[in-house]
Amino acid sequence: MTARQAGAKIARREISARELTESVLGRIDQVEEQVHSYVTVLRDSALAQADSVDKALLNGEKLSPAAGIPIALKDNLSTVGIETTCSSKILRGYKPPYDATVVNSLNAAGAVSVGKANLDEFAMGSSTENSALFTTRNPWNVAHVPGGSSGGSTASVAAGEALWSLGSDTGGSIRQPAAFCGVVGLKPTYGRVSRYGLIAFASSLDQIGPITKDVYDNALLLNLLSGHDPLDSTSSTEPVPDFTQSLTKGVKGLRLGIPKEYFAEGVSAQVKSALDTAIKQLEILGAIIEETSLPTTEYALACYYIIAPAEASSNLARYDGVRFGHRTERAMTPLELFNKTREEGFGPEVKQRIMIGTYALSAGYYDAFYLKAQQVRTLIKREFESAFNKYDALITPTAPTTAFAIGEKSDDPLAMKLSDILTIPINMAGIPAISVPCGLSDGLPIGLQIIAPSFKEETLYQVAYAYEQSTEWHKSKPNL
Ligand code: GLN
Repeated sequence: MTARQAGAKIARREISARELTESVLGRIDQVEEQVHSYVTVLRDSALAQADSVDKALLNGEKLSPAAGIPIALKDNLSTVGIETTCSSKILRGYKPPYDATVVNSLNAAGAVSVGKANLDEFAMGSSTENSALFTTRNPWNVAHVPGGSSGGSTASVAAGEALWSLGSDTGGSIRQPAAFCGVVGLKPTYGRVSRYGLIAFASSLDQIGPITKDVYDNALLLNLLSGHDPLDSTSSTEPVPDFTQSLTKGVKGLRLGIPKEYFAEGVSAQVKSALDTAIKQLEILGAIIEETSLPTTEYALACYYIIAPAEASSNLARYDGVRFGHRTERAMTPLELFNKTREEGFGPEVKQRIMIGTYALSAGYYDAFYLKAQQVRTLIKREFESAFNKYDALITPTAPTTAFAIGEKSDDPLAMKLSDILTIPINMAGIPAISVPCGLSDGLPIGLQIIAPSFKEETLYQVAYAYEQSTEWHKSKPNL
């Protein structure tokens, strides 16, 4: 069931929130050994949340569409009193003293949090293989990665271990795993959703977003997450529409640009052919399709790997063995305490990024690397802005290939990073994008990415829903 279908059944009292939660917990018992989506399963608190929804229903209270619906939370979202690890050894045992704003909103709506989902350590990666705890498997083929870094969040939804989930996206971490797992994932406009309580990776890029089985559910969940939050000064005061209202507008007369750089070398033949078919479908539905060019695309990945590590090196300076999680037992002096805690607590990818970021920010290299990357970032942003003078949205693949095999890229950091080449430019520009299923190749899903101007998530939903409803891809399910 989608969240919308389950919510309707709860409202009509055909099922209780407890029954739904029990069934999802049962599914977790059944498949978790194969999939490994969760760092923590919140069995007792989930049942308690479900019971209070059932009680409210008995009292005739009007419920939110999320009430009683089981959700998975990426384990970089702070949950009061519940271990929040970022899948890092350095945060093991850390229990936040407060909830993230999005968690608060979900709780207020009566959502049922069933678990904290696995990720690449501190959200740095594209496969969950950088998790210090374990690797999550792709429910479509457990020898393959689910993508990352929100791999636990997307796998849990694809495997039926949650009805929907939250992820975070700094360079593609919602959209790329959504494409790999055959679910719908949206990265909102920078500022659309409060990041208060999201453990920071790269603060000028990070956004929290919804991962769902279909486009309708996605709009429903974004409704709950969006809006200004006085606790996050980067959250926007832009008005929040009801996103479900734009779903049925259709694509007739919409101008859709196809940037040729997103179909270049490295994009597999299967992905290209699925995209060709999807673009033809949008044309049949009445969209005006035109090829276009975004020449700065090729610089986005290089700039991202200066800016994101620079911000990470600063954000991760706080893990010193004093305030959070892990503390070394081998220190004689305060300096040793910091150094050894960090040496023991961080994994190799995180250490590499801290070193690259520190280097790029150091005197002498700041101008050559960091400042230069910020200048190119402005060019990328302007190039999208001028494309949107001509087009309502842009259509691209979400990832160059389908999910790769576990171990296939884990020894080759460059190959791994290239899997985000089609999602990173969007974060650099701060604009929103969505991934929707558009095909299967050798039993593995392919994702279609739709990109829109700032605060035009409505356009994303309009295109995504029209496409989804005219195809069957969202109905295919993995056979676990
Ligand atoms: N895979 C990219 C990285 O490793 C993006 C991660 C993300 O969006 N959190 O940085």
